Amino acid sequence: MTKKKIYVTSPSLAKLDDFKSILEGVWESGILTHNGPMLQQFESEMISKLSLPSFVAVSNGTIAIQTAIKALDLEGEIITTAFSWIASISAIKWQNCKPVFVDIDPNSLNIDINDIEKKINNKTVAIMPVHVFGNACDVEAIENIAKKHNIKVIYDAAHAVGSKFAGKSLLQFGDISATSLHATKILNTAEGGGCVSENKEIVERLKKVRFFGYDENKEIVTDGFNAKMSEIHAALGLANIKYFDDVLIDRKIKYKKYKDELSKINGINFQELKFGEPNFSYFPVIFETEADLVEVYNNLKENNIYARRYFYPSVNTFKNILPYREVPISENISQRILCLPLYRDLDTEIIIKICEIITNTLKNKY
Ligand SMILES: *Cc1c(COP(=O)(O)O)cnc(C)c1O
Repeated sequence: MTKKKIYVTSPSLAKLDDFKSILEGVWESGILTHNGPMLQQFESEMISKLSLPSFVAVSNGTIAIQTAIKALDLEGEIITTAFSWIASISAIKWQNCKPVFVDIDPNSLNIDINDIEKKINNKTVAIMPVHVFGNACDVEAIENIAKKHNIKVIYDAAHAVGSKFAGKSLLQFGDISATSLHATKILNTAEGGGCVSENKEIVERLKKVRFFGYDENKEIVTDGFNAKMSEIHAALGLANIKYFDDVLIDRKIKYKKYKDELSKINGINFQELKFGEPNFSYFPVIFETEADLVEVYNNLKENNIYARRYFYPSVNTFKNILPYREVPISENISQRILCLPLYRDLDTEIIIKICEIITNTLKNKY
């Protein structure tokens, strides 16, 4: 048993001294929020680090999706996936739109391209796919469908910072990509998020929605809300972003270690990484049965290791907030998927230990 509790993730944090020295700038300026110098610097560092056309930082990933929907002025049905975090759905609902679920591809875990068009009708205004675990959706196919039906694409790119497609940041696709910089994500500002768009007009609209609906002349020109990121959060982002390249390299090495170890056994499946270059931000494993998952989960727990059932349950099953409609593959995968610990300070010995526990649990079954 490991002495220390091992959780599924641990935030990638800069050295405290780095953060402190950046924070001094906040104390000097006396500016805590309202598009201040830290925020502007953080946005431009995101743009240069990830080679983005724009970055509109906001207070969290959920509000990033809401800001995106509002900036595109959408009202109607939004086609999305049931294999996601509840925030994707609550954001759609809070913007007076209706989520319509499409099932997932059981290998990539992303929205099933072949199922999208069947759900499009005259009320459909957008598609909102999720790049699940940083694994790129078939962005070209999605763009073609959207163009054909004249509807918008917003990506829930909460997992996708650092992922690439065709050599570009995955955040560059869609009319808008909305991402999260929450503590558990690969790059964090404690709480935070952002929107990316290649269209300058959309970027201006995102900024207005973020700031109560004001334009540059302090005139209220649209319905907005307060989605601003504070200077303190931006300062943490500036400190953490310096370590981002190291975090990306480290994730890839650890991902490969898990994959090499667990590929030796039967009874376990991995997410298919078909498009682009993922950021390896999570290590999900899919068991043959929920019973196997529960057994592995408990055996890890006895060793002080806490894996996480994620995404679980499938969001279409939240009956208190949505009328239930079956989404079979998403529901089935949710019951069998477990994310294993993966973060920068995780020791390789722990990875080996986790793989041993899984191997021992499954070895006489398959
Ligand atoms: C984390 C997450 C969100 C929400 O981001 P917050 O910053 O926590 O609000 C939305 N969608 C997905 C898929 C996520 O993983």
